[in-house]
Formats: sequence, C-alpha cells, structure tokens
Amino acid sequence: MTMSETDRNRHSATGSAGRPACAPRRATRQVEIAGVAIGGGAPVSVQSMTCTRTGDAAATLDQIRALATAGAQLVRVTVNDDEAADALPTIVREANVPLVADIHFDYRMALAALKAGVAKLRINPGNIGSRQRVREVALAAADHGVPIRVGVNRGSLHRRYDDLSQTDPAGALIQSALDELEALAAFGFTAVVVSLKSSEPQEVIEACRRFAAISDVPQHLGVTEAGTLQAGIARSVAAMSVLLAEGIGDTIRISLAADPVEEVRAAFNMLQALGLREGYARVVACPTCGRVEVDVVSLAAKVEELAGDLPADRVIAVMGCVVNGPGEAKAADLGIAAGKSRVAIFRHGELYRNIAKEDLEEVLLAEIERLR
Ligand code: SF4
Repeated sequence: MTMSETDRNRHSATGSAGRPACAPRRATRQVEIAGVAIGGGAPVSVQSMTCTRTGDAAATLDQIRALATAGAQLVRVTVNDDEAADALPTIVREANVPLVADIHFDYRMALAALKAGVAKLRINPGNIGSRQRVREVALAAADHGVPIRVGVNRGSLHRRYDDLSQTDPAGALIQSALDELEALAAFGFTAVVVSLKSSEPQEVIEACRRFAAISDVPQHLGVTEAGTLQAGIARSVAAMSVLLAEGIGDTIRISLAADPVEEVRAAFNMLQALGLREGYARVVACPTCGRVEVDVVSLAAKVEELAGDLPADRVIAVMGCVVNGPGEAKAADLGIAAGKSRVAIFRHGELYRNIAKEDLEEVLLAEIERLR
C-alpha cells in the first residue's frame, strides 16, 4: 500500500490531519522589523544574539552571518560603548539579516544605533533611565520607523518593583513592562514588543500568560540565563513550549551559554516539534539499542545536515533494525531499516531497494538529493 496523504500529514509539521495542533495563535498587534513581521498572525520568528565584542566589526559580522545561515531572522548585538557604536554603521551595512541593538544604561547608545540604521531597539526599563531619556529614544525611534522591544529582565528590575517582586515576581515583571509601555504610549510610540524574562521557567510561563490575558502587545519569549547547552535548551523549551502551545509568543530567543548558532538550531527544532515551523524536513532516527545494525548516530547527523534545506515537510527515517524500522521507514518520504547484512530502503511507503550495508551511506545521501 502506498503512503496516503493522510499518513503523510501524520508527520507534517503543520498540525494537520491526525496530529494535534497548538492552540490558535493569540491575536496580537503586528510590528514589522525590516520585513520580519512579529505578531498579528505572522509565523513565530527566531532570534539570537552575538557574543563578540561589537566593536570588533569583522568578528561580529562573521557571527551574524553564521546565525543568518543557521536561520536566525533577527540578530541582536549589544551596543554598550563608543567602540560598539562606531562599528555599528559598518555592521549594519554588511549584515545579511536585520539587526536589533541591545541597550542598557546609556540612552545615547540607542540614539547612535538608530543613526547607524538598526532595525529594532531593545531597551531595558530597569536601567534606561528617566522619562526624558525614554522620550528622546521614543521620538528618535519613531523618526526612523524603528520598533522597540521593552525587555524586562528579572535580574535588572528597577528597585521600585522590589517589594512586589518579593510577593509576586511575575507581577513585578508585568508591572515594569506596563509602566514602560505606558510611558512610550504617552510619547505616541506604540510599535512595541514585550519580553518578560526570568531564569525560572515557571515564572516566565506565569508572567507571559498573565500579560497575554491583558495586552495585545506581541511577546518575545525567552528564559534568560538559561544555562549551558543541554540544561539551557531544556529550561528554555520547558517554558516556551508551554506558552507556544497555548498560542502565546510571537518571536523567540533561546539563550544559551554556548555557540549562539546552537540557540537557532534549538529554536527551530522546538518550533518544528510544536508544528509551528512549516516547510522543512524532519529526520526520524531511532535512539539505537543493542539490536542496532548500522551506525545510526553518525548517519542521522549527516542526514539532518543534508536535509536542512529540503523542501516542504519531507520526513526521512533512519532506523537501526527491523523492530520498528520498516514501520517508521514506510511512513516517511524516505526511510531505511537496517537488517543483519542488508538495508531496506523505502520511498513514499514502498519498499524500493534492498542494498548491501556497505553501500548505505552513498545510496542514502543520493536518495536525499532526489527529494529536492
Ligand atoms: S529500531 Fe531497532 S535498533 Fe533502533 S532502538 Fe528500536 S529496536 Fe533498537
């Protein structure tokens, strides 16, 4: 029996037939950042941040390009000193993805970043300073047509929220955001995105849920200081997947103490697992066990790399033996199920070839090319 459309959809990343979908995206107002729409029904976008010294334009551009290649749709750079501000025009001119300037403490850096041509500002209400400074930033951002993210962070809340923070940490994050939004609105500025970040996933979930219930401002989700590669991904996904499944969240950043390219990979994997990333291939790979007949681990890694730019929800299964192998391989667009000496190759649900094990890698990689 050939694979039906329904079977195929079972594996699609779109939450279509047979697969439970996330709740509908929450209705938020839309903000556009140099062609990347955030909120208002736009696909959830993926962001990351450079960890180079921004003053080192060459190193920063290298990292921006690596992040863009990995799929980052927006890249944030810190603008923390005069060297960074001086390098920014070159970085903006040569970057291949819209840039967000991350501003703390010094509002003049925001003005310099706007002049340099960044696509978005992130300001921290805990340290941006007086209303007068916020006003200057808001007016300049409006002049440049540049949206602002009000990025509230538990670690840098203004001291006026200390008491509330003791009794209601999520409420303190929300109140800080609302106060800053109100200040911006008073200056006529409404092209805003909000983030409510804490290093505690549960606090992030609560704050973002409560904010979503009272505001249509689009949300940038993130668990701040989430940790190292494995722990950081787990903590980030623990919070964000809950919110995204509820329809909350318009753009995301997974923050890792690791190469930022890993942040982008993890973000896309999470979105794909939730059915929120369409049009990309998915690799099904068995975890291997004592029955395994081929090197699934390295083969699956190679397949994943090759499949990265395959079109439209292709599913490729790399299965190590005949227990679950034929079933998963048949359900995929392309699948292998390894036996003792030979490997079965399935295409769109049908046994297509039975090859010698030693030919597997070459044949599999060639078959992937045929899926393009
Ligand atoms: S498919 Fe086979 S090798 Fe892979 S985990 Fe299952 S039983 Fe083990």
